[in-house]
Amino acid sequence: MVVEQLPREIPNWIGGKQLSAADGKVFEKLNPATGARMCMSAQSGVGDVREAVAAAKRSQPAWAACSPVERGRILLDVAITMRRRQKEIADVVAEETGKSPGEALGETGGAIQLAEFFAGEGMRMYGRTLTSGTPHKYAMTVRCPVGVAGLIIAANTPIANVAWKVFPALVCGNGVVLKSAEDTPATAWIFALIAHEVGLPPGVLNVVHGYGEEAGAPLVEHEDVGVVSFTGSTRVGRLVAVAAGKRLAKVSLELGGKNPLVVCDDADLENAVRWTILSSFSNAGQRCAASSRIIVFDSVYEKFRDLLVERTGELKVGPSDGDDFGPVINERQLSAMLEAIESAEGRGARVAAGGSRIDDSAHSSGFYIAPTVLENVAQDDELGNRELFGPIAVLYRVKDFAEAVDAVNDNDYGLTAAIHTKNVDRAVQFTRHVRAGAVNVNAGTYGSEPHYPFGGFGVSGNGSREPGVEALDVYSETKTISFTVDPGNI
Ligand code: NAD
Repeated sequence: MVVEQLPREIPNWIGGKQLSAADGKVFEKLNPATGARMCMSAQSGVGDVREAVAAAKRSQPAWAACSPVERGRILLDVAITMRRRQKEIADVVAEETGKSPGEALGETGGAIQLAEFFAGEGMRMYGRTLTSGTPHKYAMTVRCPVGVAGLIIAANTPIANVAWKVFPALVCGNGVVLKSAEDTPATAWIFALIAHEVGLPPGVLNVVHGYGEEAGAPLVEHEDVGVVSFTGSTRVGRLVAVAAGKRLAKVSLELGGKNPLVVCDDADLENAVRWTILSSFSNAGQRCAASSRIIVFDSVYEKFRDLLVERTGELKVGPSDGDDFGPVINERQLSAMLEAIESAEGRGARVAAGGSRIDDSAHSSGFYIAPTVLENVAQDDELGNRELFGPIAVLYRVKDFAEAVDAVNDNDYGLTAAIHTKNVDRAVQFTRHVRAGAVNVNAGTYGSEPHYPFGGFGVSGNGSREPGVEALDVYSETKTISFTVDPGNI
C-alpha cells in the first residue's frame, strides 16, 4: 500500500473489524510539513471505547490460553511482516509527522527490533524458583496476564510508541485497546492492519482513534481495564493516575522530561556540540529524552556557545532526507513554543539562535520553528521546569562540578541526563548522584534500546520501567505457587 491508498477516513479496529465511530464523528488530520489535509479519522467516544474493551475482554481468555511461546511466534510473524513492509509503514509515519523518509525508516526499524525482542520473550516468560523454610515445600512464581490493557500514546515517534506498548502487552497474554495519538491515527491503523493480516486473532488488538478527553479518559476509567499504560505529558499523566488509582487499576506512566546535558571544562567541545544538537533538535526536539537544559562550565561557556550557535545556524529544516529535522506535530504546539520564547525574553532571556517560526515560501504552510538557543535564563525561571517539546535548548552557566550536579537535580523532572567530560572520576560521580532514569557519558540524552529499561524519577513517571524485561512486570501479575509433598507417600 502506498500513502495515497490510505482510507480517506481512518477507521477504528474493534473485534477485528474496521469501524467508523458509532456516532459518525470524524476529525481532520493535517500533514505537519505542508499544513494540508492528509486524511480524516474516526473520532471515538465513550461508546466506541466500551465496544473495544468488550471485544478485548471477549478475546483475551483464548489468547491467554495460547502458550507464551505460541504468542511469541505470532508476534514474530508480525515483526517479520513489519520488516517486509518497513518502507510502507515508514511512508505513513513520514506523512503523519513530517519527518524525513530516512528518519521514519529508522524509527520503524527501531519498532521492529522492539517487536523481535518481545516476541523472543514468549520463550523466556520466566518465573523464579523459591526456597522454603518448611520441609518438603516447593515454591515458584509464574506470570499471569492482567486481562485487558488500555494503552494511550503520544505522537512523537508513532510506530515506536505503538510497538513499545503493544508487543509486551500482547506477549504477556492481555487483550489490548490502544488509543492512538490524535496526531498519528494512520500509523496505528496500518500497524493493526498488518497484525490482523498476519493472523493475530480478532479482538485481541483493538485500536480507537480520537481525542484524549473523549476517547482516552473513558479507557482509563473503564472498570474492565486492568492495566493502563500511558505515554504523554506529565499534566495528563496526573489525571490518568487519579482516574486509574480510584479503581486501583495498575498504571504505568511514561511522562515528560527536562533533560540536562552538562558540558565540563575538560569536555571535547566538538563532541559536546554535536550531541547537544542531536539531543535538542533531532526529531524537532519532540522526544521525552531531548536535552533542553544545557549546563556549561563558566570557563568554556563562551567557546561552547559560539560553536553551538555556529553549528545551529548550519542546520537545514524540512521534510527531506537532506534536512536535519522537520516540523513540529501541529500548529497549537508551534504557537505554545513561540509564546514561551516571547515570554522568556520578557523576563530577560536572550535568543542566541532561532527563536521564530520559519516562514519563507518553502516552510510557511507547515509547522516549522527554527532551532533555538536561549541564554541568560535564571536557574529558577519557569522555563527550567516547563517542557516545551520542541527544538529549543536553554544554556545555563555553572562554576564547577558541584554546581552542575545541583543544577541538574534542582528540577521536578528526572528522565535522562548526560555529561561531557574526559575525567572518569567526574563521570562516575555524575552517574551516581544525578536523579534521572537514564544517564549517558559523552553522548546525548537519548538513545535507549529495546532491551533497556526506560523511565523517570520525579514527575517523569510513576516508577515503572518499559520496555526491557521490566515491561513484563507492567503487563503481568505475579502468582506465587507452592507444593507441599509427602515423601512417605511414594
Ligand atoms: P499529551 O499528554 O497531551 O497526550 C498524550 C496522549 O494522551 C494522547 O493520546 C492524548 O489524546 C491522550 N490524552 C489527553 N488527555 C487525556 C485524558 N484526559 N485522559 C486520557 N488520555 C488523554 O501529550 P503529547 O503532547 O501528545 O505528547 C508529548 C508528551 O509525551 C511529552 O510530555 C513527552 O515528554 C511525553 N512522552 C514521554 C515518553 C516517555 O517514554 N517518557 C515518550 C514520548 C513522549
